[in-house]
Amino acid sequence: MINHYKLLINGQWQEGADQAFEVKNPSTLETIATCANATPEQLDLAVEAATEAFKHWRNVSHAEKQQILHRIADDVTEARDEIATLIVAEQGKPLFLARGEVEGGVAWLRYAADQEIPVELVEETAEKRIELHRKPLGVVASITPWNWPFMIAVWHIAPALRAGNTVISKPSSLTPLSTIKLVEIINRHVPQGVINIVTGERGIGSAITQHSAIQKIVFTGSTPTGQSVMRNAADTLKRLTLELGGNDAAIVLPGTDINKTAAGVFAAAFLNMGQTCAALKRLYVHESEYEALSAALVRICQEQVVGDGFEESTTFGPVQNQAQLDLIIDLVEDARHHGANIMCGGERLNREGYFFPPTIITDVSNHSRVVKEEQFGPVLPIIKYTDLEDAIAMANDCEVGLGGSVWGPDSNAATVVASRLESGVAWVNTHAQIQPNTPFGGCKMSGFGVEFGLEGLLEFTSHQLLYLSK
Ligand code: NAD
Repeated sequence: MINHYKLLINGQWQEGADQAFEVKNPSTLETIATCANATPEQLDLAVEAATEAFKHWRNVSHAEKQQILHRIADDVTEARDEIATLIVAEQGKPLFLARGEVEGGVAWLRYAADQEIPVELVEETAEKRIELHRKPLGVVASITPWNWPFMIAVWHIAPALRAGNTVISKPSSLTPLSTIKLVEIINRHVPQGVINIVTGERGIGSAITQHSAIQKIVFTGSTPTGQSVMRNAADTLKRLTLELGGNDAAIVLPGTDINKTAAGVFAAAFLNMGQTCAALKRLYVHESEYEALSAALVRICQEQVVGDGFEESTTFGPVQNQAQLDLIIDLVEDARHHGANIMCGGERLNREGYFFPPTIITDVSNHSRVVKEEQFGPVLPIIKYTDLEDAIAMANDCEVGLGGSVWGPDSNAATVVASRLESGVAWVNTHAQIQPNTPFGGCKMSGFGVEFGLEGLLEFTSHQLLYLSK
């Protein structure tokens, strides 16, 4: 049976006024659900509801908001199997990974619940007292991508609510189902209108970015869409957090332990079939380790069991959608055409579904498209270097700067190199590690603003300086 999902506006589940859209399973290409298409008028209603709800929600005590977020985390925990199943069905990732995504969501919900919003005493003298306060912004819109649909929705919504804002959620039309479930759970615990969801594939995201009564947009997605969000938000000077594309480089220094590094590099490069913003996407390896590390990575790729995420034996799922698969094929073919060596994978599997096996490319130019463009899929180009300065220059010769890493036997030496990377996060002997209490965000065209930690929470507030003359 195909389920149908509606919009949540002011605590009521409503039909879209337009024809529903279909959600497909990327492993089978079967339609698994239909979803309501929100109209601009319905977006207006959702924003009106959120504006009204803000008047009360902003004044709910911190202690009560904290309890509510913990209750939401409890309910997510109880529904974890159902949510993981929705994630596999809509996104494609193997079940173990989907379970991890739900667990991550719970961890971030509980972290947001426990956060405190500080009042900072700036100065106190006999004449004056100066305090820095933080206030909620109002209506926050969350626009999310299709790669980690549930966890990223939590990353946006939990701190927004914790800080006292009300929320309009707009998930990717490719993967709306687990977010709708999250919103349904949140709505059990908050007053009507505090959380709303408008799904759609007919420009509803763009309408959100132009809406005059939305105060902030927290957006995770591609750099071109982020640029459009920023352009549209300019007229009403909306606050923005833009978590955009990345093309993370990793540098492997001479003398690195090959087996340990191969396992770590594989995990970071092919996490979620490479469809992770801060996945390792370009690998620069010193010539002394180049052959051995490439061979070790090929071995790990060949051990993967590519298949439907619901099958117990599957370790590697499909690419999420046709456009992404087409891009991967295009980039690999371009590299092949220019003489690169496709060491393993490199061809779409001859079966139903968007399956593309993990692919290692060597003898590839640093100027090739597969290195220069964010491939956001199961492909890793490996570039040989002789001089470390060249490797650092190649790593930094990039428009985006989300994460980056350096791997080597001497962690102090590797740290010195890591600090020279132009990226929002620099890892040493690991990559793509994130946690709720450490600010995460990019530089250059990977966007601005951070998520997580106190810095992330404060992005959902505006400051008010209170100056008291005694
Ligand atoms: P996308 O930009 O195509 O879509 C993201 C969201 O924006 C979707 O909900 C989409 O419907 C919506 N959207 C599309 N056009 C819009 C418009 N004109 N105005 C407003 N919203 C619009 O991105 P995607 O393909 O879903 O995700 C992949 C990209 O996301 C990759 O580039 C990846 O690196 C990036 N990403 C970044 C992070 C991060 O934290 N930096 C995390 C995950 C993904």
